[in-house]
Amino acid sequence: MIRQYELVDRVRAYDPDVDEDVLNRAYVFALKAHGAQTRANGDPYFSHPLEVAGILTNLKLDTASIVTALLHDVIEDTDVKLADIEKAFGKEIGRLVNGVTKLTRIELQSDQTKQAENFRKFVLAMSEDIRVLLVKLADRLHNMRTLNFIPKPEKRSRIASETLEIYAPLADRIGMQAMKDELEDLAFAQLNTEARASIVKRLEYLRGGGQDLIQKIIAELQAKLTESGVEAKVKGREKAPYSIWRKMQHKNVAFEQLSDIIAFRVVVPTADKCYEALGVLHALYPSVPGRFKDYISTPKPNGYRSIHTGVIGPQRQRIEVQIRTDAMDEVAEYGVAAHWHYKRQGSDAALDGADKAIIPAPTMGGAKSESAQYRWLRELLDILEHASGPEEFLEHTKLEMFQDQVFCFTPKGELIQLPRGATPVDFAYAVHSQIGDTCVGAKINGRIVQLRSTLQNGDQVDIITSKGQTPSADWEDFVVTGKAKARVRRYVRIQRRGQYMTLGRTVIEKEFRHEGYAFTEKALDGVLKTLQAPTIDDLYAMVGEGLVTGREVIHTVFPGTKPTAKNPQSPVVKPKPRKEGSGVPLRGLIPGMAVHYARCCHPLPGDRIVGIVTTGKGVTVHTIDCVNLEAFSDTPERWIDVAWETDTTMPEHHIGRLHMIASNETGTIGTLGTVIGKNQGNITNLKFVARSTDFFEILVDVEVTDVRHLTNIIAALRATPAINSVERSRG
Ligand code: MN
Repeated sequence: MIRQYELVDRVRAYDPDVDEDVLNRAYVFALKAHGAQTRANGDPYFSHPLEVAGILTNLKLDTASIVTALLHDVIEDTDVKLADIEKAFGKEIGRLVNGVTKLTRIELQSDQTKQAENFRKFVLAMSEDIRVLLVKLADRLHNMRTLNFIPKPEKRSRIASETLEIYAPLADRIGMQAMKDELEDLAFAQLNTEARASIVKRLEYLRGGGQDLIQKIIAELQAKLTESGVEAKVKGREKAPYSIWRKMQHKNVAFEQLSDIIAFRVVVPTADKCYEALGVLHALYPSVPGRFKDYISTPKPNGYRSIHTGVIGPQRQRIEVQIRTDAMDEVAEYGVAAHWHYKRQGSDAALDGADKAIIPAPTMGGAKSESAQYRWLRELLDILEHASGPEEFLEHTKLEMFQDQVFCFTPKGELIQLPRGATPVDFAYAVHSQIGDTCVGAKINGRIVQLRSTLQNGDQVDIITSKGQTPSADWEDFVVTGKAKARVRRYVRIQRRGQYMTLGRTVIEKEFRHEGYAFTEKALDGVLKTLQAPTIDDLYAMVGEGLVTGREVIHTVFPGTKPTAKNPQSPVVKPKPRKEGSGVPLRGLIPGMAVHYARCCHPLPGDRIVGIVTTGKGVTVHTIDCVNLEAFSDTPERWIDVAWETDTTMPEHHIGRLHMIASNETGTIGTLGTVIGKNQGNITNLKFVARSTDFFEILVDVEVTDVRHLTNIIAALRATPAINSVERSRG
């Protein structure tokens, strides 16, 4: 454990004006507050904030940051209140400690979908004061270094994933390369132990077998630069295992070239010398096309500045060389923390041409007011903020690991992770099943889109719902998530079955009535086995779906009845038992002659009709425009004139057949039944002719009184949005 005086010494090493008193008070305050608390490894809890403070002294941060590190867990983990801290250490420290505490609380409740929100809150905290973030990163780094003391593997993995997805990218974003590398490596070791181990092993082999090579390259570069009068320090820097792994994943390359593993770094005193060194290297060695990048004239958004070039260098090795000044080197390693250090010293010159950089020069002056002191940081963060939003941020970090995923946001900024190709319906189901079920439309980035649209990374998706709305069957064709698919299928199945059941029961009841029997479910019990229906509901559903006809059911229940439905060409028009007389409302017939209504055109009272004499069957009545009449054009002797009785007082029921094309949606069948029922029609049969993803084609037999009745029903159906077309079936 770092002792009290050691901590003070460490700070004094880079800040001679250190406020020793406040450091000492904070040390004692935290030590007392955490008291006998211990960490997972049995150490006193206080060792943790102390180590975090230690990490920040390595970054040469100011006293307020070190004090914040010491106090960062007291509000969350002890009885100490914010007011106590403010009283003892002032408003500034209070604000910083409170900021870190807030971040810790967000972390505690975080789960996968909360991460982007976390991120945004982070950014908010950052813009408020970068030191909150720096303390938080140091806190995370120490927690990662001691991760193996956490007993539960799931918890370790969760913390490691969060580190990889949120903290390491944040460190990168503020240019802290060393912090990023260490966080990533620690997370990598937890999440993919074997991959990391194999890379480390390979690195060791290369280092062992190739140590001479690397040293030879360094020595030759050093010598050549010195010969050319460029004062430089040359070093080799190994890429971190995680970066290598990601590169291997990303580019699908094997681990072979030196240029992918070691970067040679040439560090010179000034920016001018960078270009001079570059000139020397390019004069001595062939350069590799496409590898040259000048981040000095155009720094990266995170403030990184350096010249990169690739050459076929010493030993004929293809190598990557980074040329930079000491200051740039430090900035590259420590990011904003290094800026902080240079700025604190007020030595702008150390930044080596900072006026050219994107970081605005600070207003130091005599007025060392807090706002002036941190303005440059805020401005830097502003630039980072506008350079890339959280979406792009995620694009560059998470997405490299999840190429097959898209990340979208709810209007509240929650992150929803979906497979590529996902649609707003998948999104809706991912948010909540209820939202999926009642989804009627969607806006992407404020614009109304089709539900089958494909979501892109960073889309903000606003789902429009409507109470009482139900999933649509054709969603099944475009949803990609298992949850959405299962939900839609199940819903459609249940809905359709319900509709079939209602319809089937209606058909069977009608058949009972038709035969003069009272309908009872009991009567059906006995025939379930014969009809291969497990339950009565199944039987209803089968009839509703048209797998079994109502006639078949009635014939099975009452074997005496005629199975007329099995003779679809010419059903006998059965007079209703209660009726006297022929009951056939036709004129022009020979009394006693059997009459059938043609099943092709289903003539109705009101239609112009004609009779065709068929040997052994009597007369078949067709509508005058029936296409089948053409077949009888050569036999005019078989045609007889018939007409409807106009003065019939008894309403006779006739079957009209409708041919419909309807949207293949849940609820369409129900709507159909409702519309027909409202118009006093009675569906007696229903047959699916064709079913595609978008629509189904059905034939519906409806009991009506006459053609006007059917025309009314047709008109009502045509007014129904789910029904695309309705025609009388003409055979
Ligand atoms: Mn902590």
